[in-house]
Amino acid sequence: MLRNTFFIILIFISLQSFSQVVKEPKVIIVTIDGLRWQELFRGADSSLTQSRYNSDKIGIAESYWTKNVLERRKLLMPFFWGEIEKKGQIFGNRDLNSKMEVANPYRVSRPGYHEMFNGFVDTAVKNNDRIYIHYPNIFDVAEEIFRNKNLVASFSSWDVFNFILNDDLAKYVVNAGIEDLNIVGMPNTFQVLNEMQRQAPPFISKNVRLDVITYQLAKQFLKTYQPKLLHIGFDETDDMAHAEDYKFYIEQAHQSDKMIANLWKEIQSNPFYKNQTTLIITTDHGRGEVPYGNWTSHGQGIPGSEQTWLAVIGPNISAKGEIKNGVAIYNQQIAATIAHILGINYKNSKQQIAKPIDLN
Ligand SMILES: [Zn+2]
Repeated sequence: MLRNTFFIILIFISLQSFSQVVKEPKVIIVTIDGLRWQELFRGADSSLTQSRYNSDKIGIAESYWTKNVLERRKLLMPFFWGEIEKKGQIFGNRDLNSKMEVANPYRVSRPGYHEMFNGFVDTAVKNNDRIYIHYPNIFDVAEEIFRNKNLVASFSSWDVFNFILNDDLAKYVVNAGIEDLNIVGMPNTFQVLNEMQRQAPPFISKNVRLDVITYQLAKQFLKTYQPKLLHIGFDETDDMAHAEDYKFYIEQAHQSDKMIANLWKEIQSNPFYKNQTTLIITTDHGRGEVPYGNWTSHGQGIPGSEQTWLAVIGPNISAKGEIKNGVAIYNQQIAATIAHILGINYKNSKQQIAKPIDLN
């Protein structure tokens, strides 16, 4: 009897260690536009740091170059290769046979984001056109279930998110591009950020806000309104690559890692989020590698543009670290993964959605 009780307790303890009780799950998804798996898993690329694409060969080498690939990637993205590697999962290292791809054939941003948030490939979304395509995605469905518009929100640097997420119909906050946030009774911090985005130089274009301001708006929103599903969309990595600027592409990859580390610190020190929140970080497409100049671009004609990656950390995410030899996963599985973590039923009237990614 005593022996049986002992075994039952033992089984109970081991089950506990596999799944933490999450009373009210939250999901935060951060997208880093067009950041290649090559830099995430291998660190700065010496063929590019020593090329005409890098205007600061000495400075970039001092900050991000070392021979050992594991140390080199940690110099570039210390939060990924510290906290997430230790406690979460990182998919997409093709050097270790872990494959992640977009399922859409177009391999540009908007089809990539639709795929993620719809849960399937809509072949009508072929490019980045600023047009509305109206049907509900995972955010609309979550908002419908939560029934409070401040429980779902998306902040992104690129104005096209206003069209991707149908800001004309969305019942939650969609704040994209250089756009003021206006919520009745909002704290003064938001006014400061509204002013700042209009006073900052249009460094990238009039359609793209600086990632740091997008991040601060999202972070202040999280602290003030406590959303249960939040999207933060960074954009500068993609813009810097298109601008053929490897120095700023690398620097922005590093800054993105820093902001995500700061976000995780906020989450884990906030009682509403602590040990209740899953953080997913991913990208919308890959970019070229060979020939040499193809890293700046992506699309149907550029091999490698389908190659993506995903990192995840949170309660009930087993600490597998870097995934090796896994089955191929697809960006279109993200919508169902978010729904699964939040414990909501997500279906789409348009098409069957792809199954969630196995994170156990
Ligand atoms: Zn692009």
